[in-house]
Amino acid sequence: MTVNKEGIGIFLDRDGTISEEVGYIDNIEKFSIYEFSSEAIKNFNKLGVKVIIVTNQGGIAKGLYTEETVNSVHKKMKDLLKKGGAHIDAIYYCPHHLEGIIEGYRVNCVCRKPKIGMLLKASKRFNIELGNSFIIGDKISDIETGYNSGAKSILVMTGFGKDSIKKINENNYKKPNFVADNLLEASKIICKEIYKI
Ligand SMILES: [Mg+2]
Repeated sequence: MTVNKEGIGIFLDRDGTISEEVGYIDNIEKFSIYEFSSEAIKNFNKLGVKVIIVTNQGGIAKGLYTEETVNSVHKKMKDLLKKGGAHIDAIYYCPHHLEGIIEGYRVNCVCRKPKIGMLLKASKRFNIELGNSFIIGDKISDIETGYNSGAKSILVMTGFGKDSIKKINENNYKKPNFVADNLLEASKIICKEIYKI
């Protein structure tokens, strides 16, 4: 069977996966990407698959920063990745949180991971087949998003990754399909997997 590579999505978490985990990013200065992130994303670009960021930004609902802040952080991220020769196809963020204090954002949304609203949106827009896709992240919610959407999951050991794997092993959470030291190693695993499809 030949799989159209353009129909494969690589869904990437942001904080702790592409960028340093430093808590809520309420200031663009706090944001920096890992030194290997561009190389990893370039590996995906070479494969011809779609690279989509999916990030929970509940800090917006909590009144800690605004959508404007998030948009300028994302511009910085795109610029940094571009400098490294890497390209991302789209960025989706969820601004909601049930414990939010900002009216309109305190809602039980369909997009906050582990829900799959952001993946479904991307899937429609780019004709992505979620069952052939992958999600990479550092939290249990990223892995659960994989299960909920049908995408394979990779847990990275950056960010909260080490805490997450400990919790998964101790509490019977669903296990990721793969574990990788970081995004670069995850990109190598995916390259191998995709050649098998
Ligand atoms: Mg994360």
